[in-house]
Amino acid sequence: MKAVVKRRRTKGMEFIEVPTPKIGLRDVLIKVKIASICGTDVHIYDWTRWAQHRFTPSRIIGHEFVGTVAKIGEEVTQVKTGDRVSAESHLTCGHCYQCNNGHSEVCRNFKLLGVDHDGTFAEYLVLPEHVLWKNDENIPDEWATIQEPFGNAVDTVLAEDVSAKTVLILGAGPIGLFATSIAKACGASLIIVSDPNNYRLAISKKMGAHIAVNPRRQDVVQLALDATQNNGVDVVLEFSGNNQALNQGLKIITPGGRISVLGIYERRVNMDLNKDVIFKKIRMYGITGRKVFSTWYKTSRFLSSGLVDPGPVITHQFPLKDYEKGMKLMKDGKCGKVILNM
Ligand code: NAD
Ligand code: ZN
Repeated sequence: MKAVVKRRRTKGMEFIEVPTPKIGLRDVLIKVKIASICGTDVHIYDWTRWAQHRFTPSRIIGHEFVGTVAKIGEEVTQVKTGDRVSAESHLTCGHCYQCNNGHSEVCRNFKLLGVDHDGTFAEYLVLPEHVLWKNDENIPDEWATIQEPFGNAVDTVLAEDVSAKTVLILGAGPIGLFATSIAKACGASLIIVSDPNNYRLAISKKMGAHIAVNPRRQDVVQLALDATQNNGVDVVLEFSGNNQALNQGLKIITPGGRISVLGIYERRVNMDLNKDVIFKKIRMYGITGRKVFSTWYKTSRFLSSGLVDPGPVITHQFPLKDYEKGMKLMKDGKCGKVILNM
C-alpha cells in the first residue's frame, strides 16, 4: 500500500510503498478514505524541537481520518466489515488510575496514533477495536475526518456553559474556528475572535464571530472592554499557544470568570498569577484530548443535527500523494483544515 512515512531524523517525509499491516485478534483493518492534517503532523514534517524529543522514526504519520472496516480480528465484537469508522487518537491502556476513574483523556500510558503507532496517512490502518467510533450516517466523510480536533473544541468550550455569555476566542486555527461555531450554537451572546491571520479571521465571521480582531492592528483588550460595558468577557478560550495572547485573555476576563486553555506553548509561560488569576478569582481549565467517548457523542450530535456547519473551515483537499502542498499551506497559515483523499 501507499503511505506517507517519516523515515529520517531530518525535515521532510516520504510517499512510498509499504506492506499492508496485519491484524491481531482484537484489531481491525480499516481502509482509509480521507485523512486530515493536524499541526502535530507539520511539527513531525519540519522535525521541530518537539518532534525531535517525541517522535521515533520510522512511522506512518497522521491521526485524523474516516474509513471503512475491511477486516476484523477473531475476537472483535463491536464493529463489522463495511462499518464507516473514525477513531480516538489516544490509544488508552484501560487499566491505569485515570482510565479506571473515568478520565482516560489523561491515561498514564496512552499511545498516540501517528506518533507511537502507525497512522492514517495510508491506504490501510490497523487499530484496536476499543478506540473505534462508528460514524453517524448523516455526517459526510469530509466532516467525519475532523471529529477528533472538533472534540478538542467541544471540551474547551463546554468546560462550563457559555449560554448568554460573552466569549473571547484567542487563535482562529481550525480548532478555534470550530469552537466559534460551538459557542454560537450554545447561545453565546457575544463572540470576539482574535488572530493576526486575516484569512482565518474572515472564516471566523462565517463560523459566528460577532467581532473579528487582528491583535497586530488593534488593541484587543480595549476593544473587548468597549464591547462589554467595561466589564470584560465572561469566558476566554485560548487556542493560540501564544503567551502574549494568554496574558491579553487574562486581562480581558471579568473577575469571577473562567478561561479554558487548549493551546500549547513552545516555552514555559509568563503570567501574573496573583493579579490576573487569584485576586480575580478566575477558574482556569487545562484541556487535553477529548473525553472518550462522551465528547465523541456530543461532537457527533453537533455535526449530524445541523447545529454547526464546519464546512467553511475545510478549505483545501488534495490526493494523498500531494500531502506536501497541504503541509506548506498549514505552515503559511493560508488554510483552515486540509484534507487528503486516498
Ligand atoms: P493552529 O496553529 O492552526 O492555530 C493557532 C492560531 O493562533 C493561528 O491561526 C495563529 O495565527 C493564532 N495566533 C498566533 N499568535 C496569536 C496571538 N497573539 N493572538 C491570537 N491568535 C494568535 O492550531 P490549531 O490546530 O487550531 O490548535 C490550536 C492550539 O491547540 C495549538 O496551540 C495546538 O498546539 C493546541 N492543541 C492542543 C491539544 C491538546 O490536547 N491540548 C490538541 C490539539 C491542539
Ligand atoms: Zn490508562
